[in-house]
Amino acid sequence: MKQELFYDVIILGAGPAGFSAAMYAARGNVKTAIIDINMFGGQPSNYLEIENYPGFPLIGGFELMEKFEEHADKFGVDKFPMTEIQRVMLEGELKEIETSDTIFKTKTIIIATGAKAKKLGIKGEDEFKGRGVSYCAICDGAFYKDKIVAVIGGGNSAVEEACYLTKFAQKVFIIHRRNELRADKIVQERALKNNKIEFLYNTVPVEISGTNTVEKLIVKDINTNETKELEISGVFPYIGFIPNTENFNAQIKQTPQGFIETDENMQTSIEGVYAAGDVRNTPLRQVITSASDGAIAACSAVKYIETHIPVKAL
Ligand code: NAP
Repeated sequence: MKQELFYDVIILGAGPAGFSAAMYAARGNVKTAIIDINMFGGQPSNYLEIENYPGFPLIGGFELMEKFEEHADKFGVDKFPMTEIQRVMLEGELKEIETSDTIFKTKTIIIATGAKAKKLGIKGEDEFKGRGVSYCAICDGAFYKDKIVAVIGGGNSAVEEACYLTKFAQKVFIIHRRNELRADKIVQERALKNNKIEFLYNTVPVEISGTNTVEKLIVKDINTNETKELEISGVFPYIGFIPNTENFNAQIKQTPQGFIETDENMQTSIEGVYAAGDVRNTPLRQVITSASDGAIAACSAVKYIETHIPVKAL
């Protein structure tokens, strides 16, 4: 028989949005829990350095997220890391989250589950995952000392991670489908000055091949349709993210891309359910904006708990 635990606010996802929400909710004096399928910290835990979080001119991503967690701890939050969720019921006055051993019952839910790396969807990508295909330069970069690698994408992630990889690799290709990078100018400038980086514009990856590990990447020039083989040992796709909404799809209003729609109070289409950070439809996905979303979502949840009159009591 599963145990039942009761909360005022349950936050799903322990990244910047989740921890910020946890801190504001617990400080609002409501019983708060935070649950994550993985270790706590979210995506920024994998960022080597963060230089645009106000008050911290330069800080490691893991270190910043440790500070977020410590800060939430200060106000008393029940924490459930590495907790697989089997079922979520968002509707109703008392919402439910079921895990292997617990049924959590809660007045409000804040969805802060973030997003995961988008896949290229090309031949060899799945086959060589962990054997030359990696979605985390910081985790795997050191394996590529003096090797040649390719980063796919032209956004901040691709360009920053390509710069990071030059600490190890002898050469890094940045393969981008357009003739202009999407990354911020300051990030672009750093990469353009780095003589270990070669840019292949208007180019898309077509196939990854090798024997035991990656040996070749076939790329195609989208203007000429010409293909060529790059002899490389690693492929790092950084082509954006898709929201982690598997547990909520069909229950909640989402954009065609799957991001959860909210109003300015982080209120979703379901009463008592809020969304914050990368999982929601937002124009900017940064630690600062996720933290801000989390604060707004938590304050909205606390206000809802304080003012909500159950229908049956009317
Ligand atoms: P992103 O900004 O969405 O960029 C994705 C890149 O991949 C784009 O250049 C896109 O090309 C390309 N792309 C998308 N699908 C592709 C496909 N199927 N094949 C080939 N290329 C494809 O993603 P991101 O760089 O991961 O950044 C996500 C968010 O996090 C952004 O808001 C970013 O600013 C933020 N971020 C910030 C920092 C920082 O400030 N330090 C660091 C990392 C990320 P197009 O340009 O043609 O669309």
